Order: sequence, then C-alpha cells, then structure tokens
Amino acid sequence: MTVQNKSRRALIIGGSMAGLYAGLALRKSGWEVDIFERVEAELSGRGAGLATHPEIREALARIDLDPGPDLGVDIVWRKTLAPGGGLAAQLELPQTMTSWDRIYTMLAAKVPRERYHRGLELRRVEQRPSGVVAHFADGGSAEGDVLIGADGIRSSVRAQYQPDVKPHYAGYVAWRGLANEADLSPSVREEIFEAFAFDLPPGEQMLGYPVAGPNEDLRKGHRRYNTVWYRRYDAISELPELLTDERGRRHPISIPPPLIRKRFIEEMRAHAEAVLTPQFRDVVHATAQPFLQPIYDLVSPRLAFGRVAIIGDAAFVARPHVGAGVAKAWLDAIALADALESSSDVETALERFERPRLAFGNLIVARARELGQCLRVEFRDDSERRATERWRRPDVMMKETAVLDFARG
Ligand SMILES: Cc1cc2nc3c(=O)[nH]c(=O)nc-3n(C[C@H](O)[C@H](O)[C@H](O)COP(=O)(O)OP(=O)(O)OC[C@H]3O[C@@H](n4cnc5c(N)ncnc54)[C@H](O)[C@@H]3O)c2cc1C
Repeated sequence: MTVQNKSRRALIIGGSMAGLYAGLALRKSGWEVDIFERVEAELSGRGAGLATHPEIREALARIDLDPGPDLGVDIVWRKTLAPGGGLAAQLELPQTMTSWDRIYTMLAAKVPRERYHRGLELRRVEQRPSGVVAHFADGGSAEGDVLIGADGIRSSVRAQYQPDVKPHYAGYVAWRGLANEADLSPSVREEIFEAFAFDLPPGEQMLGYPVAGPNEDLRKGHRRYNTVWYRRYDAISELPELLTDERGRRHPISIPPPLIRKRFIEEMRAHAEAVLTPQFRDVVHATAQPFLQPIYDLVSPRLAFGRVAIIGDAAFVARPHVGAGVAKAWLDAIALADALESSSDVETALERFERPRLAFGNLIVARARELGQCLRVEFRDDSERRATERWRRPDVMMKETAVLDFARG
C-alpha cells in the first residue's frame, strides 16, 4: 500500500502503547497521522496487569480520555508475607492497578480505522531533504514529514540507525499469570487479594495485585489476581532452552505463551510448592495459562536521527520493577509532540526532544537495575552484599517498587 505525502504528516511504526498514544497526541496538535502495525490480528488480549501512576491519568486527560473510576482496581495496602504466610510488613500506598488490555482498548478506539494500517511491517527508512519514506515488507511505501519508531524492544527503526544497540538479558525472567478471583481460596481472598503483595523466596521475588476480570469486569468476585514471579535462569545453559518450543524452534527475546514447553511449566509449579508462601502457592495453582517474559535492559545512546525518532521500548527498556513501561512511553510521546509543536523544523524539534528523554531513559533503567538487586545471589565482598541487601528489605521494596517518585525528584 502507498500513503500519499501531505504537509505535517507523521508516520508511526508500531501500533501498541507508544505508537497509539503518540498518534493520538500528534493528532491533537493538528498532525495527520498514520500508524503502521506489523501484526495483522487485533493486539488486544495479549497483556496482563499494569500498575498506574498519576502520569497515566494526566496523559489520558491530554488526549481527552477520562476513564474515571473504571481505570482499574483501586488498592490501598502493600503487604509482604513471611515465609510461612504470616504478615511480615505492610505499607499504605494507594494505587490503581489496571491491565494492558484496558488501556490498549481505550486508545485504539480513538484512532480512526483508516489511519491504523495492520499487517504492514517496516523494512527500511529512507530520508530525503523534504521528508521521510517508510518502506514495507509488502513492497509498499508511505511518505511523511517525520517518522516515529514505536516498534518495541526489537525495533527495526533503531536497528537501522543503531545496529549495535541490543537488549541485554538481566539474568532472570518473570513468570506471569492471571488467576480468577473466584478460583482462589478464601484465605487468599481475605489476606492478599485486595493488596499489592510480595513474597521473597531466596534469590527470587513474587508479587501480585488485583486487576479487572475478563471484559474489564471490576465487580467483586469477577476480578483476577495478576502475578509476576522473578526467577533466575542462566543466559547460556537455561534461557535458550526456556525459549525453545516443543517442536525445537528457538524464539528470540520471548516465547508465545501456548508454545512454552510443558516441562518448564511443571517445573515452575513444583518450585512454587517448594518455595512460595501458602497464599501464592494457591494463586499459582489457580493460574491456568502461565506465561513468561525474560527481563532485559535496553539503553539507546541516541533517539533522534534527522527526521526519525524512537520512543517507548524501542528507545529504552527498564526492568519491570519500576512498573513504568507505559508511563515512560507516553512521556516520550508527549515530549515529542511538544517538541514538534515548538518548532516548524522537524530536525530541530527532534534534537530538542532527544536530550531530556535520554536523561530520563537512563535514569529509569538505572533505577530498575537497582530494584533488581533484590534478586542477586552472588557478591564480590561483604560491602556489596550489604548494599544489595537493602533492596530485599520489605520496607524498601514496598516503598520503591512500581512508583515513579524517584523520577519526580
Ligand atoms: C513482567 C512485566 C511487568 C510489567 N509491568 C508494567 C507495569 O506495571 N506498568 C507499565 O507501565 N509497564 C509494565 N511493563 C512494560 C510494558 O508492558 C511495555 O514497556 C510497554 O507496553 C511499551 O510499549 P511500546 O509500544 O513501546 O512497545 P510494544 O508494546 O512492544 O509495541 C511495539 C509494537 O510495534 C510493532 N512492530 C514491531 N516491529 C515492527 C515493524 N518492523 N513494523 C511495524 N510494526 C512493528 C509490534 O508488533 C508491537 O505491536 C511490564 C513488563 C513486564 C515484562
């Protein structure tokens, strides 16, 4: 397919959290926007839980979206369980827990259908003095004034301009899952369901929080409990095996949930019985389709390349301990829209956009690495051990996980 060039047209590569939001923010500032998504099928249904921050509601308001009380499940308490399942510590920290689907559906509904092009995979970007051209795998192309790479951790746009920048495996994966509230035992429902709860087996971290049920159902008894269980897998001897399906096909970066080998799911369930608190054992037991996500760091030294910029996970990926992938992607998009509004010259605008976002990206990646210290098991010396142990203290962990306060200064 070919999209004709007109003045002030933005081409957005990737139609997920960063791409949809950037598209809506730019439309609001008067740009014509076309979004190109590689995946032909509807993207909804693939996500799990997300912690929200005030920045999420502010960003939604900027594009005239107000989900009101329906954004997700409001929680008040964070709790850390002791090994036997008793309460080790708790902290009052109100937060709304939502889901990837809820946010995606809200954004996608606001983008005109004819501007969201499915099944188009970017192959190459061509820059000309007067504009930029996106070339797609089907042989088609599109012209615009600016091109935004919102194409995620394996970004083709980033690969063209920074081929050496690659995700770096953090040494652990997150086993994730959603369990129906109705399938959980009375003790789980009473003791942890309404909370952001933590469990700390040696060298690991399990956490969970409530989210809406299927079809965004927020009614008591119809919600789900979202879990994220960080476990170490060696980069050479274990991770490649974990990412290989029953047919022996090795998947790069991550593996689709139905293809995870049964033996790994069985091992994970057996390990849950051995090391988790009774409450979290029950949640794992009630989780029908666990899935896994290897954890990566990604740092881009540059975000702007003439008329091309990268945002969201294409630019920086921070480990999920900061719970801020969506907030960061949207703050990138807002900064980009503001920069493009501040100058009619696209290249000047993108240069202005780049510097503060580089600083923020580096900050958030570094912070997430610090929080990930709670999973370390090897130390060079005692002082390193002591510094690291701080991140396993329940009070520190509960106060610092999935909050953006550190970035507000
Ligand atoms: C365990 C875990 C927990 C998390 N918890 C949270 C949380 O609590 N809060 C939070 O905010 N975030 C959380 N995140 C992070 C969040 O899910 C992502 O950071 C966020 O969705 C980034 O969105 P994106 O649009 O940049 O990238 P993606 O969502 O990866 O989207 C990229 C899109 O580009 C498309 N694409 C790729 N290549 C091409 C191409 N060549 N041409 C066209 N299209 C292409 C892809 O198909 C995809 O749709 C968590 C992550 C993990 C692993």
